Amino acid sequence: MAKKIKDVLESKISCSNCKACCCRLEVMIITDTGVPDVHIARDKWGAETMLRLDDGWCSALDRETFKCTIYENRPFICREFEMGSYECRDERAVQIITSS
Ligand code: SF4
Ligand code: SF4
Repeated sequence: MAKKIKDVLESKISCSNCKACCCRLEVMIITDTGVPDVHIARDKWGAETMLRLDDGWCSALDRETFKCTIYENRPFICREFEMGSYECRDERAVQIITSS
């Protein structure tokens, strides 16, 4: 039976073929998972987010491998962001649109 285009596209979704689109999003730190202080940005009210550098990516992302360098200590929100979820597919679509 022929595969539907939708199924083909979804079967190709993998962090290994994605340049960490989701690691360019703002990530609030809402629980203490041991994120190193050097990767934390605080606003004037004390709210904490993952620090993002000038290129837009989280400072904890390895730019060569596109892997998280603090995987064991990554924030709760990163743990909840599932590969292949609606949010994941949405971010990947945004990357394709903005890079074409
Ligand atoms: S979870 Fe989705 S958006 Fe994030 S790196 Fe993996 S494939 Fe890319
Ligand atoms: S902490 Fe890790 S998984 Fe979370 S945004 Fe930064 S690099 Fe990505």
